[in-house]
Amino acid sequence: MIDKKDYDEKRPLEMHNLHFDLAASHLDIEDWILDKIKHPRREFSVKFPLRFDDGHTELLSGYRVQHNTLRGPAKGGIRYHPSVDLDEVRALAAFMTWKCAVVDIPYGGAKGGVQCNPDSMSQSEIERMTRRFIWEISPIIGPEKDIPAPDVNTNPQVMAWIVDTYSVFKGYTCPGVVTGKPECIGGSKGRLKATARGCVYTLQEAARALGMDLDGKTAVIQGFGNVGYYTAHFLSELGVKILAVSGSKGGVYNANGLDIDALPQYEPALALNAPGGIEAESISNEDLLCLPCDILVPAALEGVLNKANANRIQAKIVGEAANGPTSPFADDILHDNGVFVIPDILANAGGVTVSYFEWVQNTQKLFWTEEDVNKTLWSIMSRAFQQVYDIHRKHKVNMRVAAYMLAIERVAEAKRVRGIFP
Ligand code: NAD
Repeated sequence: MIDKKDYDEKRPLEMHNLHFDLAASHLDIEDWILDKIKHPRREFSVKFPLRFDDGHTELLSGYRVQHNTLRGPAKGGIRYHPSVDLDEVRALAAFMTWKCAVVDIPYGGAKGGVQCNPDSMSQSEIERMTRRFIWEISPIIGPEKDIPAPDVNTNPQVMAWIVDTYSVFKGYTCPGVVTGKPECIGGSKGRLKATARGCVYTLQEAARALGMDLDGKTAVIQGFGNVGYYTAHFLSELGVKILAVSGSKGGVYNANGLDIDALPQYEPALALNAPGGIEAESISNEDLLCLPCDILVPAALEGVLNKANANRIQAKIVGEAANGPTSPFADDILHDNGVFVIPDILANAGGVTVSYFEWVQNTQKLFWTEEDVNKTLWSIMSRAFQQVYDIHRKHKVNMRVAAYMLAIERVAEAKRVRGIFP
């Protein structure tokens, strides 16, 4: 097992193995089952040529890893980024297995990606790359096998190209092959805001468990994109004062609370230079994380709570909207300092949960109202929170270990009853 004290970096596969081993050490599960469910079931690597608009051609590397399919089809996003490699995709696929299991939806985990630089690519290059990559991995994806979704640098438009490409080869329209599609081709109402909504539901449950009335409390949010922006809005609807928010260009801070509606999504600091300005001062991302507040929501990058700042975090609750925002080293410090951390596999599981609703609607050829989506999301998130919280109390482990224990137990049980083929 890796020594946690030496571990403060961002290697996602090692981080996964560390979380897994720690949680497994609290469980009484057969070694062969632990071995089986820790590692990916299937890994698919492809190389394919892409012709760029200027006529030159490059060979690109793409991956799809199905970490686990014991509880249902594999599920997880596709990312386009220069840092994509097999190890990263392996780790992200494993996180999806535990995320789906912790909220008890009938999916395994998967992830895919293409190593590329979408910032320097045209829309038509991205479309051609998407269609070719999907064709390459089409033998292993499908509504009953493995269902991709958006991730870093992929969006509803990319999902629409995937539906189209897959459907052309099948000969009929298959909306259920991906989630996160535009609504006009079978996307679900409520998907856009689902991760933020789910995160806020877990924050409400945490506040209740800790005897904290959210009305009048304070929050700080790092990242003001899809997740951070809507989290800020939902929290302020609950009477929470948002003291600071940030993007990649820094943040804005007002000790009396920000006017969230006056801030532009993604880069709120741009409001400081806008005509008329806003009642706020500028703050760095690093200082923002250490502000005194009740709730801290990292909703941007991994590894932002680490050895350097863990002892200076003053929040009472951390809701991990981002994936992997806390290094394993910082995890222990926060726990020792009495900070209540809602781990990423629980706090940001609202997105995949509503993706599951989208797939259910596609399968049943039905459409739910946004009210149905939000009500069902609430019941799933609050049940999962309570189950993790009960393990945290009963076994005296932090919420992350408790969440992994619950998820590993569920996947191990599926393996035990399914047995070994042949
Ligand atoms: P996004 O691209 O919509 O927004 C990202 C935000 O982070 C932007 O405001 C950007 O300015 C900011 N940012 C980028 N670099 C930064 C830096 N160095 N310092 C501070 N802020 C920076 O992304 P998103 O969809 O909101 O995802 C945010 C996090 O939540 C990611 O970790 C993602 O993996 C995780 N997540 C998202 C979903 C989802 O449904 N969108 C689901 C689960 C987890």
